[in-house]
Amino acid sequence: MQIKFVPYSQNFIKLFRYALLGLIFGSSISIFRFQSEVDFAIVVFLIILLVISFITFYIFNYHYILISNKHYNNSIENITENGFEFINEGKKQVFLWSDFQSINLNDTQNGLILTFKDNKRVLISNKTDNWFLLVKNIPAVFQEFDFEAIKIMFENLKSCKVCGFKADNGTECLSCGTKAWTNELNKFYPNKLEFLKKEQLFLFSNLNLDKNLNIPDNPNFEKDPNWVPLVEFKEVKKFDLTNYYFLKKKIVKSENEK
Ligand SMILES: [Zn+2]
Repeated sequence: MQIKFVPYSQNFIKLFRYALLGLIFGSSISIFRFQSEVDFAIVVFLIILLVISFITFYIFNYHYILISNKHYNNSIENITENGFEFINEGKKQVFLWSDFQSINLNDTQNGLILTFKDNKRVLISNKTDNWFLLVKNIPAVFQEFDFEAIKIMFENLKSCKVCGFKADNGTECLSCGTKAWTNELNKFYPNKLEFLKKEQLFLFSNLNLDKNLNIPDNPNFEKDPNWVPLVEFKEVKKFDLTNYYFLKKKIVKSENEK
């Protein structure tokens, strides 16, 4: 299972935790300044409420990380000679090649325009999982489709140091999403190698207790046969342990059971 990020930023989580802790601390101090028993009761009640909110938020966050594998990306599945399935916001639509009048790339070549026989149109963005596999499998009967543009698109991709697929378009990797190194990143990483390693730790990070690196596969792109990972399994494990507090408890517990 892969960890997906919660819909708000990690900074928001930190800020929220600090804000709650600050309120708890602030109210605790005011206990010593209460004027009446009613004031005291209100402050104690407030503290209990804040502590409960803090714990709830922590647990909610933890659960969100655990269940987020059920949250879907849009994707294309089961591409065959008859058609394919388009999973859009969790809803499956089956498209047959024979449903379409024409298939074209959009002007920026990052979307596929499918025109149905009744002139309705659907645009599928290249952010959709398996989009690149789909464009490689458009049947030859769609003569208007720019097969040459797709050929050139794939030929221009370079091997990505993070995931090992030939999917780097110079700006970002179309497989793992790693952005190209810029000098701006020097603020966060001592050098490019450390940046690539960090990206790889995120990519390989997993919640299961495999003994080996969990290297994601991707049928959309060719794997560079000369690629080797920059990080070792123990580094990924350390990364998981330091980044996911609850996970740490789970792993330690499960290892003790072995
Ligand atoms: Zn990559």
